[in-house]
Amino acid sequence: MAVAVLCFDHSAKAAPIIADIQIASGATSATIRLIASEQVQLTTFVLNNPDRLVVEGPGINFQLPPESGRGDGPIASYRFGTVSPEHSRIVFELTRPALPGDFTLTPTMGGGAFAISLNLTNSDRQSFDRAADGAAQARLKLENSSSPSSQTLIDTRPLIVIDPGHGGNDLGATGATGLFEKDVVLAFSLALAKKIEAQGLCRVALTRVQDVFIPLDERVKFARQHGADVFLSIHGDTITASTDIRGATVYVGDEKSSDADAAKVAEYENRADSNGGVAVLPSDSSISDILGDLTLRETRIRSNRLARELVTRIADTVHLNHNPLRAAGFRVLRAFDIPAALIEIGYMSSKSDLEQLRSPEWTDRMTSRIADALSDFLLQSGSSPRPAPKLAQP
Ligand SMILES: [Zn+2]
Repeated sequence: MAVAVLCFDHSAKAAPIIADIQIASGATSATIRLIASEQVQLTTFVLNNPDRLVVEGPGINFQLPPESGRGDGPIASYRFGTVSPEHSRIVFELTRPALPGDFTLTPTMGGGAFAISLNLTNSDRQSFDRAADGAAQARLKLENSSSPSSQTLIDTRPLIVIDPGHGGNDLGATGATGLFEKDVVLAFSLALAKKIEAQGLCRVALTRVQDVFIPLDERVKFARQHGADVFLSIHGDTITASTDIRGATVYVGDEKSSDADAAKVAEYENRADSNGGVAVLPSDSSISDILGDLTLRETRIRSNRLARELVTRIADTVHLNHNPLRAAGFRVLRAFDIPAALIEIGYMSSKSDLEQLRSPEWTDRMTSRIADALSDFLLQSGSSPRPAPKLAQP
């Protein structure tokens, strides 16, 4: 690969630049070389299911060649992005289990830049899984440790707010086997929160953790007060009386519905407040007064990207509705400045969907995929080298 001519501006204290990522693979190992403007403190850990290597560092200014992202040998591909001004990440998708060694730093020929190298050695499945579990445990411990000195540290990881639909008097749909939607989505949301926490890449908060009724606008308020980076509402679909329609659907908020069915679903979900015994107030017009149209437009673009990421990621795990990406006027998706989506994880009216919803293996896979979609989305929000995946049109 040709080495780019590096012209780094050292005059201002700017974020370190990474100008190239080079991968060279051998029979049993591979080397990743990051060409950086200065010495950068980086850490690594691995994730399994699917297998990934994550390299984390401070805020980095990625100025990679346009063809970047392709892998070689044990690396299928990689993505990179800046999650917050202090926090960047490169995620390498692995084709087989391989474990990283330590970083080595050498000035590049001609000077002015550094090559940061990382060796990746093929490993067996057991050792890789052990390393992934160990890394997850270590991150959980770090999060839970509340020594006085760590209280002053501010956790800058992005915040995901998960919103389990319904609760209390508002039962949601009643499933084919007598299960209530409110209970199914709460169990799923708690499993999803655990999965995100175990990955350690994002913080997570839930609008409810028990069987209580919370008005829709309160859920939106919760997300805004906590400064959520993403809002994800979890529901089980209901609209049909037919027992053979099944699959998951991802919705974004839009006053113009994508289709009549989506409009009906939103109308049903928006009835939650009256089901819970709360008078439904007219929509808060002050929101639309305050918000710049631009913010709303930008948020909608990001919500659509989030929804596409979710659909792409869950496609191999769940039977998708024939038109899995839809839009409608959901009251709970109304925050004008937080990218948001609502997933109907399956049809409460379908026996096979309900069986899946109650299966621990399926829940584990589905929550993994959603957690990946969320962290990928946040990763791309910084700087995205990747075109949005194309979806089949309705
Ligand atoms: Zn619902």
